[in-house]
Amino acid sequence: MGLLVHDNAVLGHLAVATIGSRAPYEEIGIVMTRIAAKQLPQKYRDVIEEQVAIFARHRTIEKINKIPDTADIPIEDPSKWLRIPDVICVYVDMLGSTRLSAVTHDRETAGAYQLFTGCAVKLFAEFEAPYIDVRGDGAFALFDSDQQYRSLATAVSFKTFAHLDFVPLIREATGIDVGSHIGIDCSTVLVRKLGFKRYRGRSDRQNEVWAGKPVSMAAKLASKTADGELLVSDRFFERITHDLAQLSCGCSGGIPIGKKVKLWEELDVSNEGIFDFGKAFKLRSYWCETHGAEYCSALLAL
Ligand SMILES: [Zn+2]
Repeated sequence: MGLLVHDNAVLGHLAVATIGSRAPYEEIGIVMTRIAAKQLPQKYRDVIEEQVAIFARHRTIEKINKIPDTADIPIEDPSKWLRIPDVICVYVDMLGSTRLSAVTHDRETAGAYQLFTGCAVKLFAEFEAPYIDVRGDGAFALFDSDQQYRSLATAVSFKTFAHLDFVPLIREATGIDVGSHIGIDCSTVLVRKLGFKRYRGRSDRQNEVWAGKPVSMAAKLASKTADGELLVSDRFFERITHDLAQLSCGCSGGIPIGKKVKLWEELDVSNEGIFDFGKAFKLRSYWCETHGAEYCSALLAL
């Protein structure tokens, strides 16, 4: 069982019972659910019991440096997790999606979701994000720790699409103003698959779970922005020091005016109460009509 227990002791917040009379600290024990036998039909209680027992078992964490192929993320051994340092999450979220109605604008609403999320996922794939997932009204991509400029180029490309295509197309089709907002954070994650390896002959009742800060922090950063803005954590910002990521191309509206300006605005987010960092940095600009493609390629080459 991999668990050291006292007889009838309480381990952590779990009630623990042991089989028979065994010495304290003996490495055999069954951790029980607190749900009483007559509280829930047995078959549902059994499911909970099993998961509580898995929780009480020892877990092994394997440290790796790169985001693995999804097929290589563990599902078989419930005690095994992978640990990956400094994973970067780019989170894109639709803004104002609740204004879209499945009743009055069903085709346009369906089209809006398809355009936004479909484009996000396909664009993330074209930028070779090692992991992509759809979540709620948006999607996220994960990048390895050394792909900070690739993740930035991906975010700015989606931002440019949302500004020039997504928002105007939905406004023209429905008269409704929607938008997009984007967040980026980086931090260590734990990952494994949770769910069923197979369920009623299907293998799709499982998904990767990314435990750690970057996905939730990137989503919260996105939620703090207005339409068209990208907000990144200070720990991500510290890693994009190159001039290509810090300064403009020197244009105004695609026309060179010769003056390169700082692209990022520093924000104090220490009073928000939802971040584990104190500063964030905001980017409003899009790819320049004249130099965007060149800058994008140059960022990818860094
Ligand atoms: Zn330019």
